[in-house]
Amino acid sequence: MADTTKGEKGKENAFIKILKAVFVKEIVLKAIALGVSLAFWFLAVGLGSLVGSGEATAGFWAQFGGNIAAQFTGALNIVTSIFDIILTFLLTYAVMHFLYKSTSSVGVVTVGVFVLGVVLFTSKLLNFPVMGSIFSEGILLLLIALITMYPQNIRRFLFNTFNRSNKDNKLVEYDCTEEEFHAATNEIVKAVLSMSKDNLGAIIIITPASVPQHILDSGTRLNSQLSQPLIECLFNTHANLHDGAVFIRGNKILAAGCFLPLSQTQSIAKELGTRHRAAIGITEQYDVVAIVVSEETGIISVARGGVLERYYDASMLKVVIEDAYGIKPVKDKKADEGKRKKTK
Ligand code: ATP
Ligand code: MG
Repeated sequence: MADTTKGEKGKENAFIKILKAVFVKEIVLKAIALGVSLAFWFLAVGLGSLVGSGEATAGFWAQFGGNIAAQFTGALNIVTSIFDIILTFLLTYAVMHFLYKSTSSVGVVTVGVFVLGVVLFTSKLLNFPVMGSIFSEGILLLLIALITMYPQNIRRFLFNTFNRSNKDNKLVEYDCTEEEFHAATNEIVKAVLSMSKDNLGAIIIITPASVPQHILDSGTRLNSQLSQPLIECLFNTHANLHDGAVFIRGNKILAAGCFLPLSQTQSIAKELGTRHRAAIGITEQYDVVAIVVSEETGIISVARGGVLERYYDASMLKVVIEDAYGIKPVKDKKADEGKRKKTK
């Protein structure tokens, strides 16, 4: 029964996630890309036959408007124009997204889009023989350049796209009831607090979505029942598996001692070392939550979507873990009773 409820919540979440991915995520970048691509498109179409034809002086604006209007006369023209605008937007957004993700610099994105615009205009409008031929093969060149420059991003994109639709893959390893999820969450929280108290360094990855096999295989596969003592044991500095991350799904420890991709972001605080960088790195690339206990300070941090937040306590941890699975946190009855007794 509990699994069915979980499945429905999962579907609801998937739908909301898609809506958020389209309309909320990177909305500023998308809005800028839309503005830039519309400007590209209308300028290119409006100027289309003007510059090369030598009619640029007489009735410039009339001709400009006429060129655009011509693209919107007749059903077929309208459909192809809309399709063309959507493709221009997707191309502009893809370039901006890749540049922004890999550099985190608005300046680089601006220069990149400017260069793209210059290439488009000079080649198409002025009919340069060399630039013209570069432009005609431009899309192909751009694709090859992106694949060569960003193999990781493309691999991640393909992995996320094809694994998200593979629901069966998720269900097989997700096989536990909602009560078991809550019990497992409590065990994780207790282990994290205890390790924080003892300044025992740890990195735990909560894995509601799939992660690539090669990351799990970089450590040791366990697939064992999760418990507070086992988690603490795995991070004990005398244990063989303590170096690297522990992966958890539901009430199972999937693997321990796993090596994670390190974030290349330059804006990470200098006092944070490779453990924190690894937590940011894995959450930049995959839809997982990383919990870090600092060996130096005992501070508990959580990374999600490539953003690290520090100073987590028990209740914040519980919320973040259950939120990752799409489960509402159950109130701690004992704590509530305790509070009520004290206030009486
Ligand atoms: P702390 O605050 O605990 O010192 P830190 O962010 O300063 O953390 P380091 O001191 O560099 O990080 O921690 C090193 C430990 O982090 C390693 O012993 C290893 O267990 C873990 N670690 C480092 N890199 C990775 C990685 N790529 N994947 C998984 N774990 C890693
Ligand atoms: Mg350190």
